Amino acid sequence: MQTPIKIAVVGSGLVGSLLAIYLRKAGHTVHVYDRSPDIRKIQFSGRSINLAMSNRGWKALDAVEIGDEIRKIAIPMEKRAIHLVDKLNFQNYGQEGETIDSISRGILNRKMIDLAEAAGAEFFFEHKIWDVSLESATLHIGETERGAWEDKKYDMVFGADGAFSRIRHRMQRQSMFDYSQEFLPIGYKELNIPANPDGTHKLDKNSFHIWPRGEYMLIALANLDGTFTCTLFMPFEGENSFDSLKTIASVEAFFEKNLPDTIDVIPKLAEDFFKNPTSTLVTMKCYPWTYEDKVALIGDASHAIVPFYGQGMNSGFEDIFILNEMIEKYDDDWKTIFSEYQRSRKPNADAIAELSYRNFLEMSSKTADENFLLQKKIEKLFSDKHPDKWIPLYSRVTFSDRPYTEALAIGDYQNSIMDEVLKMENIAKIWDSPTVENKILELLK
Ligand SMILES: Cc1cc2nc3c(=O)[nH]c(=O)nc-3n(C[C@H](O)[C@H](O)[C@H](O)COP(=O)(O)OP(=O)(O)OC[C@H]3O[C@@H](n4cnc5c(N)ncnc54)[C@H](O)[C@@H]3O)c2cc1C
Repeated sequence: MQTPIKIAVVGSGLVGSLLAIYLRKAGHTVHVYDRSPDIRKIQFSGRSINLAMSNRGWKALDAVEIGDEIRKIAIPMEKRAIHLVDKLNFQNYGQEGETIDSISRGILNRKMIDLAEAAGAEFFFEHKIWDVSLESATLHIGETERGAWEDKKYDMVFGADGAFSRIRHRMQRQSMFDYSQEFLPIGYKELNIPANPDGTHKLDKNSFHIWPRGEYMLIALANLDGTFTCTLFMPFEGENSFDSLKTIASVEAFFEKNLPDTIDVIPKLAEDFFKNPTSTLVTMKCYPWTYEDKVALIGDASHAIVPFYGQGMNSGFEDIFILNEMIEKYDDDWKTIFSEYQRSRKPNADAIAELSYRNFLEMSSKTADENFLLQKKIEKLFSDKHPDKWIPLYSRVTFSDRPYTEALAIGDYQNSIMDEVLKMENIAKIWDSPTVENKILELLK
């Protein structure tokens, strides 16, 4: 058991509130600050961008015994429903019983704050942190950047304040602090599929719906109230882009031509399209994540990634799980806890950033590539026959808790094998033959 200290967590998002629960279980006094109003008190439709929770997220929730509470607000998805222009295909995610879960960000965040409060954490909403003094772990809080600030001193501060973290901003002003940020030329916009009049879902609720269209795509995840939240990912500029859809007529014509099966289920298409903002996607990397034994970054504040593997929150939750392992191992030695935490997590954060970016490239440019589709078919057939010899990369990332670095390395090795297989004569014709199966077995030796 650690000696209790006074800890401030900046950010009451998903990572900040879960971290507060862990720190309370370790016996500390925990104050959580957020610049926004208490989301539990503001009008909420029950809908918001949904998140896919997978193995790593569940593991971190289960370790503090709140997984079952969260499962009550989750909808399991065992497969992808792939909406092509003229047909609908289904593709299971993993082995029998393996699912990812659709959860509304708003509902989840409300629940997590409730659970953190029940665990004894104190929340301070509408408290914006403008700066932090790293040496003394003192927060500078105020209404405006230039107005009067209140100073609050702690034993330790965690920056869980997201991709544009103020705490990191201060750490950036030290020498030897590495930082990079890269925006995608792709934005995203939320659209909605309402429930049927009887409250049921208009599409299969246990599927992750995807309309892949090369450079752009639409996805839809079910909400508990019978609705679906859709996200349209699309380039900002170019032929098929947000820039090219400036009028109601152009939006309706675009959906009718390219996403015809959405017309009946998104009745307020143009209204939503022009009302909802177009948001950006960023990859942010930095290092170090800690300052002495005083300040540490966690979640998106230390590694923001593009959402194409559905791992941002999951990896943030895994940060907390690993931090807690260090706490249990090193007791009151916070210097070692912090240095081991960042040493263990940084390579994994870089690996999932790389995998997420590659998935963006894969979805945007390779889904129409015949060789790529052939490779996927061969891999699927082989892994169904030899699950002990070939676990697909997606499963390694989503259904396992092995390090992301391992998933990346094995994924690269499997790709090198597939490069050889695709060079086989007549491969498009013999892809499902024993000759190809034997070739893979031989290459795996
Ligand atoms: C379109 C999209 C889809 C996604 N889908 C998935 C998915 O399916 N699965 C998945 O695992 N991840 C997904 N993610 C990623 C996931 O949303 C993030 O990784 C996760 O929300 C990060 O949580 P966080 O608590 O670190 O940061 P945030 O959620 O950004 O929370 C930060 C908090 O800090 C507060 N804050 C910020 N600055 C200050 C300040 N100066 N003072 C006080 N408070 C402050 C903010 O108000 C906020 O409450 C997706 C992201 C996007 C954009």
